[in-house]
Amino acid sequence: MPSYLISWKPATENEERGWPVEDLIALSERLRQTGAAQERWRFRRRDGVKVGERVFVVRQGRAGHAIIGYGKVAEIPKRNDGYTAVSFDILLNPTSKSVLATEDELHAITTKRGVWNTMASGIALSSDVASRPESLVVNREPIPDVGKPTEPTGARWNFDELRAAVESYLEMQQAVRAGKELNKKAIYRDLSHRFGRTEKAYEYRMQNISYVLSLQGRTWLPGLVPARNVGTSVAGDIEMILAELEGRTVNRVVVDEVQVQNNVAKGRLPKPPGARKPRATTTQTTQYDRDLDVRAWVLIAAKGKCECCNEKAPFTTAVGTPYLEVHHVRKLADRGSDTVENAVALCPNCYRQLHYGRDANSLVERLYLRVTRLIRE
Ligand SMILES: [Zn+2]
Repeated sequence: MPSYLISWKPATENEERGWPVEDLIALSERLRQTGAAQERWRFRRRDGVKVGERVFVVRQGRAGHAIIGYGKVAEIPKRNDGYTAVSFDILLNPTSKSVLATEDELHAITTKRGVWNTMASGIALSSDVASRPESLVVNREPIPDVGKPTEPTGARWNFDELRAAVESYLEMQQAVRAGKELNKKAIYRDLSHRFGRTEKAYEYRMQNISYVLSLQGRTWLPGLVPARNVGTSVAGDIEMILAELEGRTVNRVVVDEVQVQNNVAKGRLPKPPGARKPRATTTQTTQYDRDLDVRAWVLIAAKGKCECCNEKAPFTTAVGTPYLEVHHVRKLADRGSDTVENAVALCPNCYRQLHYGRDANSLVERLYLRVTRLIRE
């Protein structure tokens, strides 16, 4: 079977042709979580390439040559584009210190100049060589890397750069609300020109900002699905910048939540001792004054049923009233109004889902359809 080699080198080593480590980590994470990941990759070969043919990912650069993943050609290369979609079967985290074939093994296959060192990506392996990585690598468990260690992340984001990304995110959110056409690519390109990272890196960063917003129970931009490949310090910075740009005090929920989520993702944790007498701290938070009559009016209008799922309140309170939460469809933190045209009564499930659910955006649409007094803000 014809096989192709695509190459990866960290952007810190080659600004022009490299790709940030964090992007590759995100891609491998996406593959691990969802079982599928496609990405467009530089692909020089065009003629005769067929969908389903084998592609190997060779790591280059300071960490040494290694095969770190493989997959299949997912589309026939188009003319003059230079890219082709590859769907990955396996892609190892480039910082995991494991590989599918080490430099020594690759050099044992061939030392022919330029094969593993190719400057191009998407080249065909010659037929005498192609069968060797196939039998060595496919279905193999990862083995320890004997090459030099890869840096844990790409060049660090400085605060100004992060701030510019958050600003752009909020601008995009405003544009969408105002019903304006959104050119995300142009925004990433602009950031890319200002700070010198790839456009893709900014797209992932925007998805990290969605993640921070989702942890705060806030609304994120449809099309920028929350991505959680973010460390606690960057998440904390994003949270701080958001508060600063919106003129609020920082609530500091995100850093803790990221730590919890990252630990949950590990799937196993030694049993923690906890604390017999947890410390109490007093914090300052920003709250919005809410009109009590709006709340009462909405509860009366709901007649004890959730206005989202139409189910009866799941329990009665100690004083015998049906328990429902009053929720602002455009959230107060997103500058929604405190009026009955922007408020609904919800069961606790729907209420939480509208804050933290993956489908929160479509639930909002459902509310606008179902509750006729609502006016879109
Ligand atoms: Zn409900």
